[in-house]
Amino acid sequence: MTATDRAGRRAPVALLTDGAFTDGEATFSAMIVSGGLIRWTGHAQDVPTESVDEIVRLENRLVTPVLVDAHVHTSDTGQALAGVDLSGARSVSQALDLVAIAAAQHPGRPVYAYSWDETDWAEQRPFTSAELDRATSGADVYATRIDMHSACASSTLMDRAQAWHAPGSDGTGLIARDAHHLVREAHRGGVTAQDRGHFIDTAMRASLEAGIGVLHEMGAPVLTSEEDLLAVLAAGRRPNTPEVVGYWGQLVTSADEASALAARLGVQGLAGDLNVDGSIGSRTAALREPYADAIGMDGFAYLSPEEVAVHVAACTRAGLQAGFHVIGDAGMDCAIEGLQRAAADVGAGALGGARHRLEHAEMCHPEHLTALADLGVVASVQPAFDAHWGGSEGMYAARLGAERSSRTNPFADLVGAGVQLALGSDSPVTPFAPWEAMRACVLHHQKDQRLDVATALRLHTRGGHAAARDDRAGRLVPGAAASYVVWDQRGGLPSLRDGVAAPVAMRTVLRGTAVLDRL
Ligand SMILES: [Zn+2]
Repeated sequence: MTATDRAGRRAPVALLTDGAFTDGEATFSAMIVSGGLIRWTGHAQDVPTESVDEIVRLENRLVTPVLVDAHVHTSDTGQALAGVDLSGARSVSQALDLVAIAAAQHPGRPVYAYSWDETDWAEQRPFTSAELDRATSGADVYATRIDMHSACASSTLMDRAQAWHAPGSDGTGLIARDAHHLVREAHRGGVTAQDRGHFIDTAMRASLEAGIGVLHEMGAPVLTSEEDLLAVLAAGRRPNTPEVVGYWGQLVTSADEASALAARLGVQGLAGDLNVDGSIGSRTAALREPYADAIGMDGFAYLSPEEVAVHVAACTRAGLQAGFHVIGDAGMDCAIEGLQRAAADVGAGALGGARHRLEHAEMCHPEHLTALADLGVVASVQPAFDAHWGGSEGMYAARLGAERSSRTNPFADLVGAGVQLALGSDSPVTPFAPWEAMRACVLHHQKDQRLDVATALRLHTRGGHAAARDDRAGRLVPGAAASYVVWDQRGGLPSLRDGVAAPVAMRTVLRGTAVLDRL
């Protein structure tokens, strides 16, 4: 049980006792930690008599492995935490007031606002460039919709981005697709390296406060920049920060190209937000049948099955994970056809072994479930999406109608089919709130898609590590990294029923080092 450091010194041995430890499988009350690893677990009365240097009494507090957020945009999260939250606005004028206050506080600086949802607003429409101009006396304003797939911008930003006549602009300041990409680029041009460093630090701190010790960073050329990705990865290598697993969503056509790109950026895969389609909220997710609330519109497929197949085969040959953002059922058809074609090319064994991943996977038909399991593909899902947009009165129902919306985010079906799931927030789309994600699994709008708390915890810990090809991490067993969270919750896992407060992290420990300590 003793560990020695490189100089042969004995590492201190800490006993954590009188706790309620669980990793969603085993439960026990004491754990011995030394040299960054778990050395022993068991019951308090059975603790080995060998000397310990420190005894921590946990007073029956819950201890779990650190949580893994499998889909994060780190610097955007920090920018949002430092920006204007419009999720509480209920009208155009309320939203404009919030933007105006922020503009007045930092004259001359660009304003970033986020999480507006016109379906919550009395007027049932977004604001316009002209309204943003009047409210801020002409400031640069970039205001993203809750799903991040469309936005509104002020006139100065629209002008600078030359976005007024780009595809996806409606001429009033509401932008999606190409026009949105132009505006995002122009806005990003106004963000300094110092701003970015502040955003990343802010997001990483928030993650540790939420008990999240591992972030899967989803960079992509259309969302961010290589510079931004490299800054996030570098921050993840500093002491006392969450570990970062990087993904980059850029299409490649050969194994050599894939290897060179992944090596240059230091990423685990060419996956993440490589968009097969868009989002349901913005009516850009590719659907088999048209949207229920827009005649003739069935979304957009940004990639062909052939492009998917070539990318997946290239990544498989390079030993890398491939992956895509897929939301609509026609998008899923495209992704699966591409994966199956790639399997025919590289061999089913090699393809399954590469453990490719699909982000979101919100609309799965039974044949999709079987195919995903057969292909060994990980589904990286965001339970908070069901909490926010599911149900008979929710956004999914408005866009898709009752029948299709009732089949969105089929977590129990995915698990039942044998698909590996990982849970994430897509922060800043939804905040770092892992217990709320687990609650959304437990209280899924569709009763037959609910998961129990222990299963949700395993998916938010081991599931996340497995999505990054690590099948050993995320458990509280001897030999595993001492990466765990002590929660304020006492006496085992919370029920997460409605009205029961989510546990709060009191101490977040990564490889034996407390990186957040409120105990
Ligand atoms: Zn994303």
